[in-house]
Amino acid sequence: MRVIKMTEKTIQIDMALREHFLSKTTYTPSECYSCGTCTAVCPHNELKPEGEKLNVRQILHQAQIGVEPDSLVWECSSCKLCEVRCPREVDIVDNFIAIRNFQIENRRIPGEFENILWNILEESNPMGEAKADRGKWMKDLDLVDANTNQVEVLFFVGGPESYDGRLQEVARDMARIMQKAGINFGVLGKSEPTSGEAVKEAGEQAYLEILLKRNVEIFNKTGEQAIIPLSPHAYDIFKRLYPEYGLEMEVIHYTEFLDAMVREGKLKFTKKVDLEVTYHDPCYLGRYNDIYEQPRDVLRAIDGITLKEMENSKENAICCGGGGNKIYTDIKNEERLSNVRVIEAGKTGASQIVTSCGYCIQNFEDSVKTTNTDMEVKDLAEIVALALGVRD
Ligand code: SF4
Ligand code: SF4
Repeated sequence: MRVIKMTEKTIQIDMALREHFLSKTTYTPSECYSCGTCTAVCPHNELKPEGEKLNVRQILHQAQIGVEPDSLVWECSSCKLCEVRCPREVDIVDNFIAIRNFQIENRRIPGEFENILWNILEESNPMGEAKADRGKWMKDLDLVDANTNQVEVLFFVGGPESYDGRLQEVARDMARIMQKAGINFGVLGKSEPTSGEAVKEAGEQAYLEILLKRNVEIFNKTGEQAIIPLSPHAYDIFKRLYPEYGLEMEVIHYTEFLDAMVREGKLKFTKKVDLEVTYHDPCYLGRYNDIYEQPRDVLRAIDGITLKEMENSKENAICCGGGGNKIYTDIKNEERLSNVRVIEAGKTGASQIVTSCGYCIQNFEDSVKTTNTDMEVKDLAEIVALALGVRD
Protein backbone atom coordinates (compact mmCIF):
# COMPACT_ATOMS: atom_id res chain seq x y z
CA MET A 1 0.00 0.00 0.00
CA ARG A 2 1.45 3.37 -1.04
CA VAL A 3 1.09 6.30 1.43
CA ILE A 4 0.84 9.83 0.06
CA LYS A 5 1.56 12.76 2.38
CA MET A 6 -0.90 15.64 2.08
CA THR A 7 -0.46 19.04 3.68
CA GLU A 8 -3.46 18.74 6.01
CA LYS A 9 -3.90 15.03 6.53
CA THR A 10 -2.54 11.71 5.44
CA ILE A 11 -4.63 9.49 3.20
CA GLN A 12 -3.90 5.94 2.24
CA ILE A 13 -4.04 4.98 -1.39
CA ASP A 14 -4.85 1.32 -1.94
CA MET A 15 -3.67 0.52 -5.45
CA ALA A 16 -5.47 -2.85 -5.39
CA LEU A 17 -8.76 -1.05 -4.78
CA ARG A 18 -8.01 1.39 -7.55
CA GLU A 19 -7.19 -1.34 -10.05
CA HIS A 20 -10.17 -3.43 -8.98
CA PHE A 21 -12.54 -0.49 -9.28
CA LEU A 22 -11.26 0.53 -12.69
CA SER A 23 -11.41 -3.03 -14.03
CA LYS A 24 -15.01 -3.55 -12.87
CA THR A 25 -16.57 -0.26 -13.88
CA THR A 26 -15.87 0.31 -17.55
CA TYR A 27 -14.20 3.60 -16.61
CA THR A 28 -17.44 5.61 -16.56
CA PRO A 29 -16.46 7.46 -13.36
CA SER A 30 -13.75 9.18 -15.37
CA GLU A 31 -16.57 11.03 -17.16
CA CYS A 32 -17.69 12.59 -13.85
CA TYR A 33 -17.15 16.34 -13.69
CA SER A 34 -18.03 16.64 -10.01
CA CYS A 35 -21.28 18.56 -10.34
CA GLY A 36 -22.65 16.88 -7.19
CA THR A 37 -26.10 16.26 -8.70
CA CYS A 38 -25.99 12.61 -7.61
CA THR A 39 -25.49 13.52 -3.94
CA ALA A 40 -28.09 16.27 -4.15
CA VAL A 41 -30.86 14.02 -5.52
CA CYS A 42 -30.17 10.90 -3.42
CA PRO A 43 -33.43 10.47 -1.50
CA HIS A 44 -31.65 9.08 1.56
CA ASN A 45 -30.18 12.52 2.19
CA GLU A 46 -33.68 13.98 2.64
CA LEU A 47 -34.57 11.72 5.53
CA LYS A 48 -34.84 12.95 9.09
CA PRO A 49 -33.07 13.25 11.41
CA GLU A 50 -30.36 14.74 9.26
CA GLY A 51 -27.34 12.55 9.76
CA GLU A 52 -24.41 11.34 7.78
CA LYS A 53 -24.95 12.11 4.12
CA LEU A 54 -24.69 9.45 1.47
CA ASN A 55 -22.10 11.46 -0.44
CA VAL A 56 -22.40 9.70 -3.78
CA ARG A 57 -19.86 11.80 -5.62
CA GLN A 58 -17.29 11.44 -2.85
CA ILE A 59 -17.68 7.66 -2.67
CA LEU A 60 -17.10 7.39 -6.43
CA HIS A 61 -14.01 9.59 -6.30
CA GLN A 62 -12.61 7.77 -3.27
CA ALA A 63 -12.78 4.45 -5.11
CA GLN A 64 -11.42 6.01 -8.28
CA ILE A 65 -8.20 7.14 -6.61
CA GLY A 66 -7.92 4.08 -4.36
CA VAL A 67 -9.14 5.47 -1.03
CA GLU A 68 -11.29 3.07 1.00
CA PRO A 69 -14.82 4.37 0.39
CA ASP A 70 -17.28 5.36 3.03
CA SER A 71 -19.18 2.43 4.57
CA LEU A 72 -22.37 4.30 3.64
CA VAL A 73 -22.02 2.63 0.24
CA TRP A 74 -23.99 -0.21 1.89
CA GLU A 75 -26.91 2.16 2.57
CA CYS A 76 -27.69 2.73 -1.13
CA SER A 77 -31.03 1.21 -2.15
CA SER A 78 -29.96 1.10 -5.82
CA CYS A 79 -32.91 3.27 -6.86
CA LYS A 80 -31.00 4.71 -9.85
CA LEU A 81 -32.36 8.24 -9.39
CA CYS A 82 -28.82 9.64 -9.18
CA GLU A 83 -27.95 7.84 -12.39
CA VAL A 84 -30.85 9.11 -14.49
CA ARG A 85 -30.08 12.65 -13.32
CA CYS A 86 -26.31 12.42 -13.86
CA PRO A 87 -25.42 14.67 -16.81
CA ARG A 88 -22.40 12.48 -17.65
CA GLU A 89 -24.17 9.11 -17.72
CA VAL A 90 -21.97 7.58 -15.02
CA ASP A 91 -23.12 4.02 -14.11
CA ILE A 92 -23.32 4.90 -10.44
CA VAL A 93 -25.17 1.81 -9.20
CA ASP A 94 -22.81 -0.61 -10.95
CA ASN A 95 -19.91 1.37 -9.51
CA PHE A 96 -21.33 1.02 -6.03
CA ILE A 97 -21.73 -2.73 -6.56
CA ALA A 98 -18.08 -2.88 -7.67
CA ILE A 99 -17.10 -1.18 -4.40
CA ARG A 100 -19.19 -3.65 -2.40
CA ASN A 101 -17.51 -6.42 -4.37
CA PHE A 102 -14.05 -5.14 -3.42
CA GLN A 103 -15.04 -4.91 0.22
CA ILE A 104 -16.44 -8.45 0.18
CA GLU A 105 -13.28 -9.81 -1.44
CA ASN A 106 -11.37 -8.20 1.40
CA ARG A 107 -13.73 -9.67 4.01
CA ARG A 108 -15.39 -6.38 4.89
CA ILE A 109 -19.14 -6.93 4.73
CA PRO A 110 -21.87 -5.69 7.10
CA GLY A 111 -23.22 -8.57 9.20
CA GLU A 112 -26.75 -8.22 7.79
CA PHE A 113 -25.48 -8.69 4.24
CA GLU A 114 -23.41 -11.68 5.31
CA ASN A 115 -26.58 -13.25 6.74
CA ILE A 116 -28.40 -12.73 3.44
CA LEU A 117 -25.65 -14.58 1.58
CA TRP A 118 -25.58 -17.47 4.06
CA ASN A 119 -29.38 -17.75 3.82
CA ILE A 120 -29.19 -17.99 0.04
CA LEU A 121 -26.41 -20.56 0.19
CA GLU A 122 -28.28 -22.73 2.66
CA GLU A 123 -31.96 -22.23 1.75
CA SER A 124 -31.94 -20.55 -1.67
CA ASN A 125 -33.74 -17.43 -0.41
CA PRO A 126 -32.47 -14.26 1.32
CA MET A 127 -34.82 -14.63 4.30
CA GLY A 128 -33.54 -18.08 5.32
CA GLU A 129 -36.96 -19.74 4.99
CA ALA A 130 -36.95 -23.52 4.53
CA LYS A 131 -36.28 -24.51 0.93
CA ALA A 132 -38.78 -27.35 1.23
CA ASP A 133 -41.62 -24.85 1.90
CA ARG A 134 -41.12 -22.79 -1.26
CA GLY A 135 -44.08 -24.32 -3.06
CA LYS A 136 -46.55 -23.88 -0.21
CA TRP A 137 -47.96 -20.62 -1.64
CA MET A 138 -49.88 -22.73 -4.18
CA LYS A 139 -52.02 -24.45 -1.52
CA ASP A 140 -55.07 -25.81 -3.35
CA LEU A 141 -54.31 -24.24 -6.73
CA ASP A 142 -54.01 -26.94 -9.33
CA LEU A 143 -50.85 -25.86 -11.16
CA VAL A 144 -48.67 -27.68 -13.66
CA ASP A 145 -45.21 -28.77 -12.50
CA ALA A 146 -42.80 -27.31 -15.07
CA ASN A 147 -40.03 -29.66 -13.87
CA THR A 148 -41.77 -32.62 -15.47
CA ASN A 149 -44.26 -31.15 -17.97
CA GLN A 150 -43.68 -29.20 -21.16
CA VAL A 151 -45.57 -25.91 -21.04
CA GLU A 152 -45.17 -22.62 -22.90
CA VAL A 153 -44.63 -20.21 -20.05
CA LEU A 154 -42.64 -20.56 -16.83
CA PHE A 155 -44.18 -18.49 -14.01
CA PHE A 156 -41.31 -17.44 -11.70
CA VAL A 157 -42.80 -16.59 -8.32
CA GLY A 158 -39.71 -15.45 -6.38
CA GLY A 159 -38.58 -15.80 -2.75
CA PRO A 160 -40.57 -13.16 -0.83
CA GLU A 161 -43.68 -13.93 -2.90
CA SER A 162 -43.38 -17.65 -2.10
CA TYR A 163 -43.07 -17.25 1.67
CA ASP A 164 -44.63 -13.97 2.82
CA GLY A 165 -48.35 -14.42 3.57
CA ARG A 166 -49.28 -11.02 2.11
CA LEU A 167 -47.29 -11.54 -1.08
CA GLN A 168 -48.53 -15.10 -1.54
CA GLU A 169 -51.95 -13.55 -2.29
CA VAL A 170 -50.38 -11.72 -5.23
CA ALA A 171 -48.75 -14.90 -6.56
CA ARG A 172 -52.03 -16.78 -6.24
CA ASP A 173 -53.95 -14.02 -8.03
CA MET A 174 -51.49 -14.01 -10.90
CA ALA A 175 -51.79 -17.79 -11.23
CA ARG A 176 -55.60 -17.53 -11.28
CA ILE A 177 -55.45 -14.78 -13.91
CA MET A 178 -53.34 -16.95 -16.20
CA GLN A 179 -55.64 -19.91 -15.64
CA LYS A 180 -58.63 -17.74 -16.54
CA ALA A 181 -56.88 -16.50 -19.70
CA GLY A 182 -56.10 -20.08 -20.74
CA ILE A 183 -52.31 -19.64 -20.63
CA ASN A 184 -50.31 -22.87 -20.86
CA PHE A 185 -48.01 -22.21 -17.89
CA GLY A 186 -46.19 -24.07 -15.15
CA VAL A 187 -44.20 -23.43 -11.97
CA LEU A 188 -41.10 -24.99 -10.42
CA GLY A 189 -42.62 -25.12 -6.93
CA LYS A 190 -40.18 -26.07 -4.19
CA SER A 191 -37.34 -26.51 -6.69
CA GLU A 192 -37.59 -22.88 -7.88
CA PRO A 193 -34.12 -21.33 -7.33
CA THR A 194 -33.33 -17.84 -6.06
CA SER A 195 -32.92 -15.36 -8.92
CA GLY A 196 -29.53 -14.22 -7.61
CA GLU A 197 -30.59 -10.58 -7.49
CA ALA A 198 -29.76 -10.30 -3.78
CA VAL A 199 -26.33 -11.83 -4.44
CA LYS A 200 -25.66 -9.30 -7.21
CA GLU A 201 -26.72 -6.38 -5.01
CA ALA A 202 -24.41 -7.58 -2.26
CA GLY A 203 -21.54 -7.51 -4.75
CA GLU A 204 -20.73 -11.23 -4.33
CA GLN A 205 -19.55 -11.67 -7.90
CA ALA A 206 -17.87 -15.08 -7.56
CA TYR A 207 -20.93 -16.76 -6.04
CA LEU A 208 -23.24 -14.94 -8.46
CA GLU A 209 -21.48 -16.49 -11.44
CA ILE A 210 -21.85 -20.03 -10.03
CA LEU A 211 -25.50 -19.38 -9.28
CA LEU A 212 -26.36 -17.92 -12.69
CA LYS A 213 -24.73 -20.81 -14.57
CA ARG A 214 -26.68 -23.32 -12.46
CA ASN A 215 -30.00 -21.42 -12.84
CA VAL A 216 -29.67 -21.04 -16.59
CA GLU A 217 -29.23 -24.81 -16.84
CA ILE A 218 -32.39 -25.35 -14.74
CA PHE A 219 -34.46 -22.87 -16.76
CA ASN A 220 -33.25 -24.01 -20.18
CA LYS A 221 -33.90 -27.64 -19.28
CA THR A 222 -37.63 -26.88 -18.89
CA GLY A 223 -37.72 -25.99 -22.60
CA GLU A 224 -40.23 -23.18 -21.98
CA GLN A 225 -40.47 -20.29 -24.41
CA ALA A 226 -40.80 -17.49 -21.87
CA ILE A 227 -40.22 -16.80 -18.19
CA ILE A 228 -42.59 -14.47 -16.36
CA PRO A 229 -41.32 -13.20 -13.01
CA LEU A 230 -43.43 -11.32 -10.48
CA SER A 231 -40.56 -9.35 -9.00
CA PRO A 232 -39.10 -6.43 -10.97
CA HIS A 233 -35.76 -7.31 -9.34
CA ALA A 234 -35.85 -10.86 -10.70
CA TYR A 235 -37.04 -9.50 -14.04
CA ASP A 236 -34.11 -7.10 -14.25
CA ILE A 237 -31.43 -9.72 -13.58
CA PHE A 238 -33.11 -12.26 -15.92
CA LYS A 239 -33.29 -9.66 -18.65
CA ARG A 240 -29.90 -8.01 -18.27
CA LEU A 241 -27.54 -10.73 -16.98
CA TYR A 242 -28.97 -14.18 -17.72
CA PRO A 243 -28.62 -13.95 -21.54
CA GLU A 244 -24.84 -13.58 -21.01
CA TYR A 245 -24.95 -17.00 -19.34
CA GLY A 246 -27.00 -18.60 -22.12
CA LEU A 247 -30.65 -18.17 -21.10
CA GLU A 248 -32.73 -19.28 -24.08
CA MET A 249 -36.15 -17.95 -23.16
CA GLU A 250 -37.86 -14.62 -23.52
CA VAL A 251 -38.11 -12.61 -20.29
CA ILE A 252 -41.44 -10.84 -19.80
CA HIS A 253 -42.47 -9.02 -16.63
CA TYR A 254 -45.95 -9.93 -15.47
CA THR A 255 -47.13 -6.32 -15.98
CA GLU A 256 -46.05 -6.51 -19.63
CA PHE A 257 -47.76 -9.88 -19.91
CA LEU A 258 -51.02 -8.56 -18.42
CA ASP A 259 -50.90 -5.60 -20.80
CA ALA A 260 -50.35 -7.93 -23.78
CA MET A 261 -53.21 -10.21 -22.67
CA VAL A 262 -55.55 -7.21 -22.43
CA ARG A 263 -54.56 -6.02 -25.90
CA GLU A 264 -55.00 -9.51 -27.38
CA GLY A 265 -58.45 -9.78 -25.82
CA LYS A 266 -57.44 -12.74 -23.60
CA LEU A 267 -58.58 -10.95 -20.45
CA LYS A 268 -62.24 -9.98 -20.37
CA PHE A 269 -62.97 -7.77 -17.39
CA THR A 270 -66.47 -8.57 -16.23
CA LYS A 271 -66.59 -6.66 -12.93
CA LYS A 272 -66.64 -2.93 -12.39
CA VAL A 273 -63.97 -1.87 -9.88
CA ASP A 274 -64.98 1.50 -8.46
CA LEU A 275 -61.67 2.69 -7.02
CA GLU A 276 -59.50 5.78 -7.16
CA VAL A 277 -55.93 4.56 -7.40
CA THR A 278 -52.45 5.98 -7.69
CA TYR A 279 -49.71 3.88 -9.27
CA HIS A 280 -46.22 3.69 -7.76
CA ASP A 281 -43.44 2.88 -10.25
CA PRO A 282 -41.01 0.33 -8.76
CA CYS A 283 -37.42 1.45 -9.48
CA TYR A 284 -36.44 -1.82 -11.19
CA LEU A 285 -39.41 -1.63 -13.54
CA GLY A 286 -39.42 2.08 -14.27
CA ARG A 287 -35.99 3.66 -14.15
CA TYR A 288 -34.21 0.35 -14.88
CA ASN A 289 -36.46 -0.96 -17.67
CA ASP A 290 -38.71 1.88 -18.88
CA ILE A 291 -41.90 0.00 -18.02
CA TYR A 292 -44.17 2.90 -17.15
CA GLU A 293 -47.21 2.73 -19.40
CA GLN A 294 -48.01 -1.02 -19.45
CA PRO A 295 -49.29 -1.21 -15.84
CA ARG A 296 -51.15 2.07 -16.26
CA ASP A 297 -52.75 0.83 -19.49
CA VAL A 298 -53.99 -2.27 -17.66
CA LEU A 299 -55.56 -0.09 -14.96
CA ARG A 300 -57.13 2.20 -17.60
CA ALA A 301 -58.73 -0.83 -19.26
CA ILE A 302 -60.71 -1.69 -16.11
CA ASP A 303 -64.16 -0.18 -15.83
CA GLY A 304 -64.54 2.06 -12.76
CA ILE A 305 -60.85 2.73 -12.08
CA THR A 306 -59.76 6.38 -11.79
CA LEU A 307 -56.00 6.79 -12.02
CA LYS A 308 -54.40 9.70 -10.18
CA GLU A 309 -50.72 10.56 -10.53
CA MET A 310 -48.43 11.45 -7.65
CA GLU A 311 -46.29 14.57 -7.81
CA ASN A 312 -43.19 12.42 -8.40
CA SER A 313 -44.11 9.68 -10.82
CA LYS A 314 -42.51 7.58 -13.56
CA GLU A 315 -38.80 8.48 -13.88
CA ASN A 316 -39.00 10.71 -10.80
CA ALA A 317 -40.75 8.19 -8.55
CA ILE A 318 -39.47 8.12 -4.97
CA CYS A 319 -37.95 4.73 -4.08
CA CYS A 320 -39.70 2.63 -1.42
CA GLY A 321 -36.27 2.01 0.10
CA GLY A 322 -36.26 -1.76 -0.41
CA GLY A 323 -33.75 -2.27 -3.24
CA GLY A 324 -30.06 -3.04 -2.84
CA ASN A 325 -31.04 -5.64 -0.18
CA LYS A 326 -32.26 -2.87 2.13
CA ILE A 327 -35.58 -4.70 2.49
CA TYR A 328 -33.67 -7.33 4.50
CA THR A 329 -31.73 -4.94 6.75
CA ASP A 330 -32.61 -2.67 9.66
CA ILE A 331 -33.66 0.90 8.93
CA LYS A 332 -31.15 3.22 10.57
CA ASN A 333 -32.98 6.51 9.98
CA GLU A 334 -35.93 7.44 12.11
CA GLU A 335 -37.80 8.35 8.91
CA ARG A 336 -38.26 5.85 6.08
CA LEU A 337 -38.39 6.47 2.34
CA SER A 338 -41.62 4.45 2.14
CA ASN A 339 -43.20 6.87 4.65
CA VAL A 340 -42.33 9.78 2.37
CA ARG A 341 -43.84 7.94 -0.59
CA VAL A 342 -47.01 6.92 1.21
CA ILE A 343 -47.63 10.48 2.41
CA GLU A 344 -47.18 11.68 -1.17
CA ALA A 345 -49.63 9.02 -2.37
CA GLY A 346 -52.16 10.16 0.24
CA LYS A 347 -52.09 13.69 -1.18
CA THR A 348 -53.61 12.45 -4.45
CA GLY A 349 -56.86 11.65 -2.65
CA ALA A 350 -56.79 8.08 -4.00
CA SER A 351 -57.85 5.26 -1.70
CA GLN A 352 -55.38 2.69 -3.10
CA ILE A 353 -51.64 2.66 -3.77
CA VAL A 354 -51.16 0.17 -6.57
CA THR A 355 -47.73 -1.15 -7.42
CA SER A 356 -46.08 -4.22 -8.93
CA CYS A 357 -43.22 -5.15 -6.63
CA GLY A 358 -43.25 -7.21 -3.44
CA TYR A 359 -40.67 -5.03 -1.68
CA CYS A 360 -42.78 -1.92 -2.31
CA ILE A 361 -45.88 -3.68 -0.97
CA GLN A 362 -44.10 -4.80 2.21
CA ASN A 363 -42.67 -1.33 2.86
CA PHE A 364 -45.89 0.53 2.05
CA GLU A 365 -47.99 -1.80 4.22
CA ASP A 366 -45.78 -0.81 7.17
CA SER A 367 -45.78 2.86 6.26
CA VAL A 368 -49.56 3.31 5.88
CA LYS A 369 -49.78 2.12 9.49
CA THR A 370 -46.95 4.20 10.93
CA THR A 371 -48.00 7.38 9.10
CA ASN A 372 -51.74 6.83 9.71
CA THR A 373 -52.41 7.19 5.99
CA ASP A 374 -55.91 6.06 5.13
CA MET A 375 -55.01 3.97 2.06
CA GLU A 376 -54.86 0.33 1.04
CA VAL A 377 -51.83 -1.15 -0.71
CA LYS A 378 -52.55 -3.37 -3.68
CA ASP A 379 -50.62 -5.17 -6.35
CA LEU A 380 -51.70 -4.68 -9.96
CA ALA A 381 -52.48 -8.42 -10.17
CA GLU A 382 -54.94 -8.06 -7.27
CA ILE A 383 -56.87 -5.30 -9.06
CA VAL A 384 -56.93 -7.36 -12.27
CA ALA A 385 -58.14 -10.42 -10.31
CA LEU A 386 -60.99 -8.31 -8.90
CA ALA A 387 -62.00 -7.11 -12.38
CA LEU A 388 -61.94 -10.71 -13.65
CA GLY A 389 -63.88 -11.99 -10.67
CA VAL A 390 -61.22 -14.60 -9.79
CA ARG A 391 -60.28 -13.39 -6.28
CA ASP A 392 -61.19 -15.51 -3.29
S1 SF4 B 1 -24.04 13.51 -11.13
FE1 SF4 B 1 -22.58 12.39 -12.44
S2 SF4 B 1 -21.14 13.99 -13.12
FE2 SF4 B 1 -22.25 14.86 -11.38
S3 SF4 B 1 -20.93 14.35 -9.58
FE3 SF4 B 1 -22.41 12.69 -9.77
S4 SF4 B 1 -21.37 11.12 -11.02
FE4 SF4 B 1 -20.26 13.06 -11.29
S1 SF4 C 1 -29.01 4.69 -6.44
FE1 SF4 C 1 -30.51 5.89 -5.24
S2 SF4 C 1 -29.99 5.41 -3.14
FE2 SF4 C 1 -28.22 4.79 -4.34
S3 SF4 C 1 -26.87 6.57 -4.33
FE3 SF4 C 1 -28.15 6.74 -6.14
S4 SF4 C 1 -29.88 8.03 -5.54
FE4 SF4 C 1 -28.88 7.30 -3.66
